[in-house]
Amino acid sequence: MTEPDETYRPFTLWARFPLWQQILAGLVLGAIVGALLGERAAWLQPLGDLFINAIKMLIVPLIFSTLVVGITAMRDPQKMGRIGLRTIALYLLTTAFAIAIGLAASTLFQPGAGVEMSVDAPVDAQEAPTLTKILVGLIPTNPVEAMASANILQIIVFAIGLAISLVLIGEKGDPVVRLFESFAEAMYKLTEIVMAFAPIGVFGLIAAVAGEHGLDVLLPLIKVIGVAYLASLVHVLVVYSGLLAGIGRLNPVRWLRGSLDALIVAYSSASSSGTLPVSLRCAQDNLGVSRGVASFVLPVGATINMDGTAIYQGVVALFIAQMMGIDLSWTDYGMIILTGTLASIGTAGVPGAGLVMLSIVLSQVGLPLEAIGMVAAIDRILDMARTSVNVAGDLMVTTLVGQSEGELDRAVYDRPFKR
Ligand code: ASP
Repeated sequence: MTEPDETYRPFTLWARFPLWQQILAGLVLGAIVGALLGERAAWLQPLGDLFINAIKMLIVPLIFSTLVVGITAMRDPQKMGRIGLRTIALYLLTTAFAIAIGLAASTLFQPGAGVEMSVDAPVDAQEAPTLTKILVGLIPTNPVEAMASANILQIIVFAIGLAISLVLIGEKGDPVVRLFESFAEAMYKLTEIVMAFAPIGVFGLIAAVAGEHGLDVLLPLIKVIGVAYLASLVHVLVVYSGLLAGIGRLNPVRWLRGSLDALIVAYSSASSSGTLPVSLRCAQDNLGVSRGVASFVLPVGATINMDGTAIYQGVVALFIAQMMGIDLSWTDYGMIILTGTLASIGTAGVPGAGLVMLSIVLSQVGLPLEAIGMVAAIDRILDMARTSVNVAGDLMVTTLVGQSEGELDRAVYDRPFKR
């Protein structure tokens, strides 16, 4: 990655602050302005939508080109296989921790005790996707269609196949590899340009959310929000930091700082797929992970690794049981862990997807689906936290895999942080 071209950054006092500080300022200002304007803050939503559209525009071409470039640079199928296994194992491990933390927090703090349930319209139960269906669906029948519908797992499969074939045909593949290299470089530049607008986008998104969710909506459910946020924080600060320091021998504070841009964009957009271009940039530019590892591990994570969603499934399932005065058995707890993990894997990285998948968990343990209507009122607030944790989990595993494969540049990871 070449140094950022300063001509794209507005020449103002504002531009002298590093990007992460600008984004943070957008977040805080957005919350204040949204709270002051109330419902009128919806006027600011288009600012956020413009930004979200712009990063979504990057996803397919960015992932496809960086993945092809990353794998052709690796030139070692065995290493690819090892990275794949490590990635999946770490993703599953952290998700199991996540749901356990969610259950523990809800058991400890009893957020549902004494809450009156107001029933909304009944909700249809979702079907859990079967394993066979997921596996068969991995292979695209038409790669162009996979790209048009932004089916990330199918794009990954096709990109891996193409990259391996390019390596196998040797010199004949070089022109195409070079084409992808130059295309990927341009996509990085475009990501950087789009990211310059992140502070404004984050401002618009947060203002609209803060304006919509007045205190009257939040107060009755403040305890469940608090418990979900606390469990999320514990997961990131204890589990992720512990794994980074314990297994990776890496400083977790540097990791957090390097991931901050992506975490804030995830928080304000509530979409981990939408945040992918930002996560890719953070992994390489701030954390020093190689393009090959980042371009494989992150898109897989944005599709299947949803620790924040798993925490939420645990917290909310128990919240509903407590609210309804239903006692759960150990088997029910086991069922919540199992279905919660599966549901989180099947959750798409888009706003609100976790709420839809909650019905799988509730119906498995016989909890009333009508209660979903009540949580739906505050879902955006919960969604923002779970999406940040989802993205944090992807970046943590990417860092660990990079480190274990010797694909993490310590000079970048350990360098004093400027932008
Ligand atoms: N919005 C979350 C994400 O994009 C998914 C969810 O709703 O749980 O990661």
